[in-house]
Amino acid sequence: MVSTSSNGNAHRVKVLVLGSGPAGLAAALYAARAELAPVVLSGIQLGGQAALTYAVENYPGFPEGVGGAELGELFKKQAEHFGAKVEFETANEVDLSARPFKVTGDNSKYLADTIIVATGASSNQLGVRGENELTGRGVSYCATCDGWFFKDKKVIIVGGGDSALEEGLFITRYASSVTIVHRREELRASPLLQKRAAEHPKVDFIWSTIVTEVLGSDKVEAVRLKNVKTGEERILETDGIFIFIGHTPNTAMFKGQLEMDALGYLKVDDRMQTSQPGVFAGGEVADPHFRQVVTSAGMGAAAAIQATRFLEEHES
Ligand code: NAP
Repeated sequence: MVSTSSNGNAHRVKVLVLGSGPAGLAAALYAARAELAPVVLSGIQLGGQAALTYAVENYPGFPEGVGGAELGELFKKQAEHFGAKVEFETANEVDLSARPFKVTGDNSKYLADTIIVATGASSNQLGVRGENELTGRGVSYCATCDGWFFKDKKVIIVGGGDSALEEGLFITRYASSVTIVHRREELRASPLLQKRAAEHPKVDFIWSTIVTEVLGSDKVEAVRLKNVKTGEERILETDGIFIFIGHTPNTAMFKGQLEMDALGYLKVDDRMQTSQPGVFAGGEVADPHFRQVVTSAGMGAAAAIQATRFLEEHES
């Protein structure tokens, strides 16, 4: 077994995984089973975005569905069982110019022979007045985290994708009404979710409409809406606004060091290799297309298999 050793105050590792979502923890599992003693820097959210999902119904092997946080814990437990080490730490700076790569985390420095980037993506903001000021006071990006606070209250959801509908349906457990505000007249969400939302007695829709301001002094009281077809504006009273309008990949740290597409997703080849040999990537950080727990886990596993081959080729 290859052990993690210290060099000065920098920890020397064979495989350093950045991120602890499905991609990062699947990569850790595979690297651990290859006896590479991977270290995972978890980032702020153990389990990644999936851990914020109330129920994951489309990860194979769980016919009744599984809680997102529970699935993250299971991934972690399985990786640790084979020798992965998960540190509750966020990587803040990387130097990928030469191997071993240098990574600075909150508490420690690392020298890594290979890196698997699985830093995922973060929720997009609307960028309207009142949004930042009232975040945590009625503005939320996580139904599982905050839904409970809206018991018997009125909420609006912004977005027309799977997240908006899935999370909106989840909030119906608590809220008295859930109004989905979407900028078009057509939803992007899967037909099954559309059907469930359309048939739910607590859910209604406002079409072709955007939120232009969140109103309230110390908590959300209303939103200003604008119909994008007619230009008509109105104020809608609400106790909460949940925003699910897509994600931005967490790649700022790699700018100028790894190739990205126009939206900031890391470019990888069919072996999960980034533009820097020895640095691999998987999951939503490198995937603008699928973004599913199962596809992210698959990409993470593939990245670790390739990192293992890379180490074999470069160490013999
Ligand atoms: P998404 O599919 O990108 O949808 C984002 C939604 O937000 C779209 O309806 C978009 O409108 C709207 N939007 C974007 N910017 C906006 C703005 N500035 N103002 C107002 N509306 C805006 O994102 P997502 O729903 O988070 O899903 C991401 C990925 O995860 C998808 O691949 C999805 O299938 C997957 N996912 C799957 C599940 C599941 O399988 N159960 C659950 C959650 C997520 P337009 O439609 O007009 O572009």
